[in-house]
Amino acid sequence: MRGGEEAAHPAEAITAGAHLTDEARSAALERQCHRCAGCNAPLTAGSTHFDIRPPVICGGSPLPGNLEALCPFCHQNFMRRVRVRLAGHRNK
Ligand SMILES: [Zn+2]
Repeated sequence: MRGGEEAAHPAEAITAGAHLTDEARSAALERQCHRCAGCNAPLTAGSTHFDIRPPVICGGSPLPGNLEALCPFCHQNFMRRVRVRLAGHRNK
């Protein structure tokens, strides 16, 4: 695994937008007591992912208040669900 597959996901690039400032990330972490929003696992600086809920590509707004901190495991699950939802929209 060299990370090549991850870079190919467009949803990843959108949620990692310029609106997510260090301040917004810190605020999200503090709001969640530095725990994952999905599974409540303790988050460390090197293993924290940030996502917008609802996703920008599904109509969400990239506001700091919509930011959620996730562990790598929940982040992957989250992105998978977003892709499934997008695929469903395209098929309709
Ligand atoms: Zn988690």
